[in-house]
Amino acid sequence: MENNEIKKFLKVPKFAKHVILIASCKGGVGKSTFALNLALTFQHLKFKVGLLDADIYGPSLPKLLNTNKEPKVENKNFLPIDVNGLKTMSIGYLIPDGTANIWRGPMVIKAVTQLLRDVAWGELDLLIIDTPPGTGDVQLTISQKIDVTGALIITTPQELSLIDVKRGINMFRKVNLPILGLVENMSYYVCDECRKKHYIFGKKSSLKLAKKYDLEVLGELPISENLIKKYDTLHPIIKQKQGDIIFESFFNICQKVLNKVNV
Ligand code: ADP
Repeated sequence: MENNEIKKFLKVPKFAKHVILIASCKGGVGKSTFALNLALTFQHLKFKVGLLDADIYGPSLPKLLNTNKEPKVENKNFLPIDVNGLKTMSIGYLIPDGTANIWRGPMVIKAVTQLLRDVAWGELDLLIIDTPPGTGDVQLTISQKIDVTGALIITTPQELSLIDVKRGINMFRKVNLPILGLVENMSYYVCDECRKKHYIFGKKSSLKLAKKYDLEVLGELPISENLIKKYDTLHPIIKQKQGDIIFESFFNICQKVLNKVNV
């Protein structure tokens, strides 16, 4: 069965105008940090945003948001956890930490299907889905069960990370999931003294790869503790003033994503 036929057959409701997958082909590149900050920037721009942490094996949203409330159930659907207006759902809210590490195949597919089908998001402009690193059951299940507008691939400039990105690009293309672009995290460091950008892992390496695959690099993010300060103490980037390099980077990425999805 083709993906479109499977989707019709499964009748997963359309709950968001656009669904954006946040993918990384390697772990630890800042995918979850990026997904949260992207969602917050869209929320700051007055979009109705949902953030689904579908990183079944290592959900980090509860930790990033410093919340472990249990979602209520209404009419057989989970109600998202609302954090300052941002609607969120994570497998981490539903099962104890570490439980899903050993799940494979059918268990993973079942869990992802439930997260896609059984959450009462209400009307959303954008649903942002944080997926586990790599290209496995979760990505495949999502691409088969809902209409995804496109994926953003997060990488770091190091060669090892970029090798995996090639695999990710090939996989997404195989399942006909559009790639909106690459985002390079931890691209550079701004020195406190000289205020210059230092590209400690090499400059523009993602750009070369992107060009080869006819893709765009939508932004570069610095290594910065401001990006990772706890949600409860900073409300990450959106409390930054305009002109701040991180705020501007996220703002520009959001604009480019909106252009690409024609909003
Ligand atoms: P992933 O979801 O890809 O596994 P995370 O978002 O969990 O990655 O980030 C991995 C680690 O790197 C975390 O400790 C996070 O705080 C840190 N981190 C992510 N992005 C940055 C950045 N731009 N600057 C500094 N630390 C970062």
